[in-house]
Amino acid sequence: MNQTLAAAPAEAETVLRYRQCRWCSSPTEHFRLLCPVCGSTDMVEQSSAGFGVVRRVGAVVRSEVLEHRIRQSCAITLDEGLTIPAVVTASRYEVVPIGTRVRLHAASGEQETAEFRLA
Ligand SMILES: [Zn+2]
Repeated sequence: MNQTLAAAPAEAETVLRYRQCRWCSSPTEHFRLLCPVCGSTDMVEQSSAGFGVVRRVGAVVRSEVLEHRIRQSCAITLDEGLTIPAVVTASRYEVVPIGTRVRLHAASGEQETAEFRLA
């Protein structure tokens, strides 16, 4: 397990996995079987360091009034070059502009979306 950049306490699964093509080194989601660029099936599983940048901002998924938090759906481009759908949790008074640096808070299970917080 790669612990070098793991700053967050390990309360849940906080490793975000992805696949990287051995031929063209394109990164893609961990569940894909084919490289979206060259179509190769020769992919290696990698772990993301968990840092990225907000690329697109979508709707507020949930507003937790008591905790003054919002959960906003976003597209995050990881430092590894892969763009994934995710949820960013922020304070209700914070805006989440495009280009915001975020850090992985909880990785996705098979179904769930990865959760990020402002870095
Ligand atoms: Zn490829």
